[in-house]
Amino acid sequence: MSLHRFAPLIIEWQRRHGRHDLPWQKSLTPYPVWLSEIMLQQTQVSTVKAYFERFIQRFPAVQDLAQAELDEVMGLWSGLGYYSRARMLHRCAQMVVQENGGVFPQDVAALQKLPGIGPSTAAAIASLCFGQAVSIMDGNVRRVLTRLLAFGEDLATSAAQKNLNRLAHDLLPTGVWVQSMHQYTQGLMDLGATVCHTRQPQCGQCPVKDLCQAHAKGLPTNYPVNTRKLLRRAQSWWLLIPTTAQGAVWLRKRPASGIWASLYVPPIYDSHQQALQAVPTVWHARMQVQTPFVHVLTHRDLHLHPLHLRVPATSTWGEGQWWAPADWPELGLPAPLRRLLGPGL
Ligand code: SF4
Repeated sequence: MSLHRFAPLIIEWQRRHGRHDLPWQKSLTPYPVWLSEIMLQQTQVSTVKAYFERFIQRFPAVQDLAQAELDEVMGLWSGLGYYSRARMLHRCAQMVVQENGGVFPQDVAALQKLPGIGPSTAAAIASLCFGQAVSIMDGNVRRVLTRLLAFGEDLATSAAQKNLNRLAHDLLPTGVWVQSMHQYTQGLMDLGATVCHTRQPQCGQCPVKDLCQAHAKGLPTNYPVNTRKLLRRAQSWWLLIPTTAQGAVWLRKRPASGIWASLYVPPIYDSHQQALQAVPTVWHARMQVQTPFVHVLTHRDLHLHPLHLRVPATSTWGEGQWWAPADWPELGLPAPLRRLLGPGL
């Protein structure tokens, strides 16, 4: 069987077995598709669903998002991680409104000029919403295509990425199938997410197994090849969490760049000693040291050491202010801090 059957098989499979009830599929228009694509970067569908629903409820249109304060956007994004996405999202919404009258461009090149929109997100919007014949290339799709083609080049190199993009272009629907471009794009994403799993691909259920070269070789998990490894660093932070009898916590806003940029955090120190020096000696005995834990960021393992301290409401801790529990849900708080402050946040 030749590869010209690939696109029709994906489209037909998507119609019968693909995902049709994801919250962002209710309307294939650019705003929800864009929002979901940004949220889904490095994040599971199961996690994104609730965040997406909350965002759409609060910001039903791109104009609502553009008009919002960044703090509110960060608050709604809290816990989703990779916070630069939220800042880009806000900037992108403002640019779409200010420079394009609230309308997303249809063209892939124009879409990519917007903040936070890379080639794959642009292709997703153009193909899902406008039926354009362009190939997305997110992690799921990359896995399906490298296996289909037994593409053994190292995707750490830009030459290999270009070659794969060219081959992906050759696989796009042609003839009458072009009208089903959105189902082709959705089908590739669905196949990668539900059948062609990273470690245990379900080749027996795959609509393209007769075309798949990695399956024929019996080596699907050999693909994709990518030798690039993230350089990870470890960093330790002591979080001093001053709390009043009424439950208010002293929080300050982080700078606009770096770890947890623009989020609200308690005073942070690089050592236990530094944290102790920030507290009057008479209070040292009442400081509660919680078991440290590791919070994993993209390039870093953050070793967090929470220190709880009950203090009078008249105390101050430099920059920042007291925030009552009723205020917390509206604040952009890093996920580990949300957990430390209490369940239900
Ligand atoms: S046959 Fe197996 S390896 Fe090939 S695309 Fe399908 S699930 Fe993936």
